[in-house]
Amino acid sequence: MLIEADLHTHTVASTHGFSTITENCVRAKESGVKCLAMTDHGPAMPDSPHIWHFGNMRVLPRKILGVTVLKGVEANIIDYDGGLDVCDGSPYKFEFVVASYHRYYFENFERQSEETVTKGYLKLLENPSVDMIGHPTTKHFPVDWRVLVSAAKEAGVLLELNESSIRDGKSPKETVVEMLLECKKQRCPIAVNTDSHFWGTIAETPISEQILQELGFPRGLIANADWAELRERILKRRPCLDI
Ligand SMILES: [Zn+2]
Ligand SMILES: [Zn+2]
Repeated sequence: MLIEADLHTHTVASTHGFSTITENCVRAKESGVKCLAMTDHGPAMPDSPHIWHFGNMRVLPRKILGVTVLKGVEANIIDYDGGLDVCDGSPYKFEFVVASYHRYYFENFERQSEETVTKGYLKLLENPSVDMIGHPTTKHFPVDWRVLVSAAKEAGVLLELNESSIRDGKSPKETVVEMLLECKKQRCPIAVNTDSHFWGTIAETPISEQILQELGFPRGLIANADWAELRERILKRRPCLDI
């Protein structure tokens, strides 16, 4: 198994998700995964949870069936100036923030230039709440990898290798390879996640594993391959977390 923490997972709280946090944790435990970040969609997504979902995540225990649960969000990047639909001024304390572009909430979405999208990410990286950029390889938002990888490394923000996005054809393999080669070259850490919307796919990353193997990608650059190391990394950014 490649990963000891799955940092991008959805539950029934996003209505296009089909499993509960408990079902996800049952699968995580069976798979030997020690940590799950629960990252349902921020409010800009049409079927995101009611905002109270995020406020009430505090009622969940730190561990479910022995699996550490990070109470997070997949925040939506809503413009090309680093704007997010949660976090800035949000009353809720998130324990893990994935920030992702999705085309669904852009009115009359038009594919922007590499320069515009990259500039948007650079602004986003100035936001200290962000822990990871979700599926940066998606074909609708082209990126200058040399610039983004360097800035993400500098900011300590993870770039994601997203299994669902490759499987569903949203992230073309050539783009994924481009990102990984640049990360390898610049020694920038990534996180490999499932973006699971059903318990059966928690911790299942066969396509990502195949590509990483083909490229001889160093295991040491996979931030969620080892839970103890990842825990240290998270605590550096969020020293008050009781994990
Ligand atoms: Zn997403
Ligand atoms: Zn997602």
